[in-house]
Amino acid sequence: RAARAASAALRGARSVSTVGVVPTPPIDAGAVRLGLPGAVGNTPLIRLNSLSEETGCEILGKAEFLNPGGSIKDRAALFLVKAAEESGKLKPGGTVVEGTAGNTGIGLAHVCNARGYKCVIYMPDTQSQEKISLLRVLGADVRPVPAVPFTDPMNYNHLAMEYAESHENAVWTNQFDNVNNRRAHEETTGPELWAQTGGKLDGFVCATGTGGTLAGISRALKAASGGSTKVFLADPPGSVLYSWVTSGGAKMERSGSSITEGIGQGRITDNLADTELDGAIHVPDERTVAMVFRLLAEEGLFLGASSCLNVVAAYDMAQRLGPGKVVSTVLCDGAARYQSRLFSRSWLEDKGLFEAVAPEHRHLVAF
Ligand code: PMP
Repeated sequence: RAARAASAALRGARSVSTVGVVPTPPIDAGAVRLGLPGAVGNTPLIRLNSLSEETGCEILGKAEFLNPGGSIKDRAALFLVKAAEESGKLKPGGTVVEGTAGNTGIGLAHVCNARGYKCVIYMPDTQSQEKISLLRVLGADVRPVPAVPFTDPMNYNHLAMEYAESHENAVWTNQFDNVNNRRAHEETTGPELWAQTGGKLDGFVCATGTGGTLAGISRALKAASGGSTKVFLADPPGSVLYSWVTSGGAKMERSGSSITEGIGQGRITDNLADTELDGAIHVPDERTVAMVFRLLAEEGLFLGASSCLNVVAAYDMAQRLGPGKVVSTVLCDGAARYQSRLFSRSWLEDKGLFEAVAPEHRHLVAF
């Protein structure tokens, strides 16, 4: 009787008694995502109204902060785990190990929970406490380590590789040099952007950590547009990539440092290598911080520093391309995972950045 009632409920019949049966609403297969992995991607594209009006362009931000793990890195995490499964290296009950500024680790921790893997995360101890706490809550074995350059054997990436090599059924996903990271964006983020703009996308710009996002999206957009969509790199202080792109690959110079987390790079990763780029935009921290507060006050968007740096770069790219163009970027994550820093007056003052917040937005510096 229960089975008959349930199947009648499924067909939407109202006359059958459903006493003792949990009514099941009709399922719209297109609207249902298959578990957490199925909920990654297909993010909306948000028009940044005040910036679009100011530039006479359409400035569009892809809302990657709406992924289930809260950042663009969920896409890479899923592709890295799937590739490890498909290669046979990652077996049921195994351990995923990664070196990360935090967001890839958060994405991996979610995917590992959904698929029954353990997760070990090495990260530089310069990253925000919020990301470390979140990783712990998600059940990851988090190991903050001193921030030393890639050339140092104690760098967090090398430690992750060593852990995987010395433990049974443990796999290092190697996000910096494993091109399955880039593939996530070539196969999902890039094609989504092209479809969402109806193939009318004049420019794309974003900053780079591993290079997966920029390189994958560049490949997808260049292929879809026949090369006509312009793709620019955005870069914070302390990174070599601006000099590398603007010198046509001849120089790798850097100066200063940045409060942005997860972006800026000192080498050409395998993900970034052989990427077609049409230009580069350098964004100082003053402009990034001002944009954090402008987007909150004017657009209602609460975004992390890399997203805000990307928006500054999209604004500059729109001005370079001229009015009437469509320019897009990625809004990588939300500000909640940096709020103890970005919204703290003493932290901003310590970095010499409080004055960068527009006077009319300073009431938003909450702590
Ligand atoms: N923004 C944030 C907040 C990140 O955590 C990262 C990844 N470290 C990036 C941007 C850069 O993305 P990608 O690694 O694909 O270059």
